[in-house]
Amino acid sequence: MTRFAAQIIFLIGVFGWGAIRFPHEVKNKRKNRISESQVDGRERLLLIVSLFGLGLLPMAYCLVPGRFVFLAFADYGFFPAQAWLGAAVFAGALALFLATHRQLGRNWSQTLELREGHTLVTHGVYRLVRHPMYSAFFLWGLAQALLLQNWIAGPAGLLGFGLLYAFRVGREEAMMRAAFGEAYAAYEARTRRIVPFLH
Ligand code: SAH
Repeated sequence: MTRFAAQIIFLIGVFGWGAIRFPHEVKNKRKNRISESQVDGRERLLLIVSLFGLGLLPMAYCLVPGRFVFLAFADYGFFPAQAWLGAAVFAGALALFLATHRQLGRNWSQTLELREGHTLVTHGVYRLVRHPMYSAFFLWGLAQALLLQNWIAGPAGLLGFGLLYAFRVGREEAMMRAAFGEAYAAYEARTRRIVPFLH
């Protein structure tokens, strides 16, 4: 494995991510109305920060490295074993991401929204943690940090998504509690947020 190959693997992972997400976006835009939205300026800003850290910055780093001299200075020595581990973590992230999309189905939304006829999902990977899709995003961030051996492009995903997660998750749970009452409270009592048994 070379630095270049690790960058290609990262780009393939991002492409796979899009291949899972895009059909859902299209399906959900058709006849699946939003009944409640808590999207505000802060939430929009967090989405942009996350998109920048997980997508735009690392993709720019991979696609135009020569011109991004300001990032090349932050490269560190390339460790193939670290990159292989990153490839494996990305594969796991994609598998989990696919499962969450299947199981959340039409309840999925990119942001703080509820759909008409929203149902509470607690089966499949949602039995293990309350936010498996966010676990998958953290795994992407981890894979990025392992594959892109650069002090800026590598950790940018964990940082960007970490901010979105930190400022969103409490609000999302409050929204779900308001919508599903006891059922969500009971679900919260028996599950953790993103790591089974730990957090
Ligand atoms: N936080 C979840 C879902 C991310 S998508 C995860 O990480 O897997 C965000 C939207 O999903 C939220 O706005 C909310 O409407 C919806 N949602 C979150 N948890 C849900 C659940 N257990 N069942 C149904 N919808 C849920």
